[in-house]
Amino acid sequence: MILYRLICAEKHTFDQWFDNMADYDLKRDQQAIVCPECGDTHISKALMAPSLTGSGGTVGRSEPAHACGAEPGAGCGGCPAMMG
Ligand SMILES: [Zn+2]
Repeated sequence: MILYRLICAEKHTFDQWFDNMADYDLKRDQQAIVCPECGDTHISKALMAPSLTGSGGTVGRSEPAHACGAEPGAGCGGCPAMMG
C-alpha cells in the first residue's frame, strides 16, 4: 500500500491509500479519485516534502533528515540525505 498526498484542480490536498503506483494511475484515469472537499476528479500527486529535496523545491526550508541519524541540518558527509 502507498499513501499519496493528492491535490485537486482547486488546490485542495488530501491523502489517499493505493495498492501501488499503477493503482493510482488507473483510478486517476478512471476519474475514480474524487476530492473530498469539492468533488473534483482532476487529481494529481502533490509534492511530498521529503521526496524532492535539492530540486529547488518551494515546499519550505526545513532540512532533510539524515538516513544516518545525524541531526537535520548537521553535516554528516555521506548519507543519501546529503546528496540531493
Ligand atoms: Zn478540491
